[in-house]
Amino acid sequence: MKKVVKFGGSSLASAEQFKKVGKIIRADASRKFVVPSAPGKRFSGDTKVTDMLYSCYGAAIREKKFADQLQEIRGRYQEIIDGLGLDFSLDQDFEKIRENFGKKIGRDYAASRGEYLNGKIMAAYLGYEFIDAADVIRFGEDGSFDEETTNQLLAKRLEDSKGAVIPGFYGAKADGTIVTFSRGGSDVSGSLVALAVGADLYENWTDVSGFLIADPRIVKNPRSIETITYKELRELSYMGASVLHEDAIFPVRKAGIPINIRNTNAPEDKGTLIVEGTCRQPKYTITGIAGTDGFASITIEKAMMNSEIGFCRKVLQVFEEHDISIEHMPSGIDTMTIFVHKDEFEEKEQQVLSAIHKTVKPDHIELESDLALIAVVGRGMRATRGTAGRIFSALAHAHINVKMIDQGSSELNIIIGVRHDDFKNAIRALYEIFVVTQI
Ligand code: ADP
Ligand code: ASP
Ligand code: MG
Repeated sequence: MKKVVKFGGSSLASAEQFKKVGKIIRADASRKFVVPSAPGKRFSGDTKVTDMLYSCYGAAIREKKFADQLQEIRGRYQEIIDGLGLDFSLDQDFEKIRENFGKKIGRDYAASRGEYLNGKIMAAYLGYEFIDAADVIRFGEDGSFDEETTNQLLAKRLEDSKGAVIPGFYGAKADGTIVTFSRGGSDVSGSLVALAVGADLYENWTDVSGFLIADPRIVKNPRSIETITYKELRELSYMGASVLHEDAIFPVRKAGIPINIRNTNAPEDKGTLIVEGTCRQPKYTITGIAGTDGFASITIEKAMMNSEIGFCRKVLQVFEEHDISIEHMPSGIDTMTIFVHKDEFEEKEQQVLSAIHKTVKPDHIELESDLALIAVVGRGMRATRGTAGRIFSALAHAHINVKMIDQGSSELNIIIGVRHDDFKNAIRALYEIFVVTQI
């Protein structure tokens, strides 16, 4: 049995947290490959080391003094080293970092030091070997991730390892230039290691007892999901459930390696198992609810648009030509609505509108901003009638106006558009009807 274990920032924010992590790893001899994040928040209002590094490097490139900020970061690590009673020094590493910041070596390099240093401490604490991710996670010349080379490098390097720590979040180009994944990317690193070593399980340890049915910052004490499929998870992560980086499922999915989301602060909880497929019926009709804010919609009206061949294509082409991605596209007989990300659309708004006028000569175009999209996801919806009806009734009850509802043909999810101000209440109302009262 081989397990890859990834620990998130809050699981490694202090010596206390490191001790919990050490206990978890030592409790199971198959936990041989460890992927740590940088130290996260120790308490609410605290700053993640990654953010401190971005800010410190920002000062360095503006030719401002950055020594104090770097010293503060150093303090975070020293506190951990001292708290663990390790005889271990990061003097040389910090000297090198100071030098490289002075040379303005790169923003990604700066951010990556968070995981790099934490990895070194973790390796010393566990007595595992430290493997710099720059040697085993490869990016191409253009900065895009090189999946094949990474898999070969990782598999070869870890082949005979008895226990290794590979810091998350970054890798390097062949010439050594450091490149990071997007924020939260240590989840992706863990998944890559799991694929390369042919792990039986990828454990992702965080600060919640698994994937919760709804965002705990919106719904109070939501229940956790026992088993979820990769597909359901993809829908939820894409729509903003931020527990796991949205790209983290691809490497393990390929090899059918399950992911287990666990809680470092409650290791006895079973957490959530993410699998390819399952015969287990979910407890509720829905598996989870997630949502994102910050959308705008463009509704195009034209009498008889349905009989005009090529109408949709022409409209979509306008968006393509302006490099705007489309999120959803519900339509009626004489109307079609396009949901886009507000930030992406805003700056090109007038050009897009005039291009639509020119190409399809609509009767009317209506814009609406400050919209949110909510995804209600669940494999159980296929076998249940009346889900959309229950959604409407729950939202009507909460006096929420539904702007759009769109059911994917997979019957795995229903997307609902609501106004920004109704966003949180809508999620609470949906949780209430599907999970709490189940009526
Ligand atoms: P880590 O630092 O361990 O990578 P993250 O902060 O990236 O952890 O992810 C865990 C956080 O995700 C939780 O603390 C919680 O606030 C948030 N979250 C958002 N949606 C959900 C959800 N559906 N289930 C669980 N946690 C969620
Ligand atoms: N430390 C990085 C971040 O804050 C990566 C991660 O935590 O996964 O985004
Ligand atoms: Mg994370």
